Amino acid sequence: MLRFAPSPTGDMHIGNLRAAIFNYIIAKQRNERFLIRIEDTDSARNIQGKDKEILSILNLFGLLWDDLAYQSENFSKHRHFAEVLVQQNKAFYCYCTKEFLDKKRDEAAREKRAFRYMDEWAELQKNEKKQPAIRIKGSAKNISFKDEIKGEINIESNELDSFVIIREDGIPTYNFACALDDMIYDISFIVRGEDHVSNTPKQMMVHEYLGYEKKIQYAHLPIILGEDGKKMSKRDSSSSVSYLLEQGFLPQAIVNYLISMGNKTPLEVFTLKEAIEWFDIKNIAKSPVKFDLARLRFLNREHLKRLDESEFALLLGVQDLSIGALAKLQEASTLNEIREKLDLIFKPKDINRLYENEDFSASCNQLFLVLRQIVEQMDYKKMDYAEFKELAMQKSGLKGKAFFKPFRILLTGSSSGLELEPIFVYLRLFLNEILKLK
Ligand code: GLU
Repeated sequence: MLRFAPSPTGDMHIGNLRAAIFNYIIAKQRNERFLIRIEDTDSARNIQGKDKEILSILNLFGLLWDDLAYQSENFSKHRHFAEVLVQQNKAFYCYCTKEFLDKKRDEAAREKRAFRYMDEWAELQKNEKKQPAIRIKGSAKNISFKDEIKGEINIESNELDSFVIIREDGIPTYNFACALDDMIYDISFIVRGEDHVSNTPKQMMVHEYLGYEKKIQYAHLPIILGEDGKKMSKRDSSSSVSYLLEQGFLPQAIVNYLISMGNKTPLEVFTLKEAIEWFDIKNIAKSPVKFDLARLRFLNREHLKRLDESEFALLLGVQDLSIGALAKLQEASTLNEIREKLDLIFKPKDINRLYENEDFSASCNQLFLVLRQIVEQMDYKKMDYAEFKELAMQKSGLKGKAFFKPFRILLTGSSSGLELEPIFVYLRLFLNEILKLK
């Protein structure tokens, strides 16, 4: 089984989504199940409703899961395994207070050495503290594993000191709960962010102490850098999946982009389904990749071109397929840009402002009366572009630019843009709505 294990503590970051996509693809390739495991161990940081939000994003991206679990459902199992480890002398109760540990940490910092927990501290404060935490015993040997992206990784035993597996409030820590759940759900391959590299040996320790022998494969994804080359933080708005969706990027374009980041792909523009055919995690570059908004915009434009008018109508929330068709003809990189262009067409026209530094208000007014007259008196929905234009020219007496600029402004709300002829096929259906002044 593969899994994606989001914490419901914040917005879904594109790095999380990337891990979800890769786990999903590998599950499909191996014909294994795909589990979503909500890692809600950190009750103080859990945000109510985030789990649902994450699930609806995954759904929108077509990352459909076979199983859904909440880590907190397994807390009693986690506690049981901790007791087993205590009985086997592979874990122990630790009565150290926070103040004591902070003091030790400060000491280590002053002496410029890494802080390491010493097992002999465990019971020094037994009288002061009622509820102990449980720590798993540090590893006596180095632990190494082969990362599918980064290659061989070796962690020295001195970095693997005894760590807390059950907090004093009885809640398991992330490393312990995660290691156990990966066992309980028979996880075969884990793709996650590289911030977890140092957690992997700790989780492997838990498996080893419990005699769990299954060899799990690991791939840790390089971090995504912002366009400024610095680590993309939650504060970079483009790092939030919801923000990108709000900006009018299509899920299929975001998927395409995240799969192609730092990757060699046989095609430039592809779907998630196609990627399942050829995706290989080994091709993902080891080095961090920069988020490239221009590239995402390019891919979005390509995916917009693949939509038909009914898909546009659905995405824009309109019933009328002609509006979907009009949307499809627009030159734009995001759905929001298309919305803005359609808005300009349908909004009452502002003719009293300058267009390209010129005042067209007089000719606009003149032409407007003529166009309204045609709409009110003739069967305009059947007219083709040439017919409508000739009639408007003739009736208004305007010519050249003095005709074309106002004509375009009144029809589209803009003095430049697409050829009018191809869009007129759809525009004509709405002339009565379009021809309004502000
Ligand atoms: N809850 C962890 C996170 O969101 C999961 C890491 C993992 O996949 O094990 O970063």
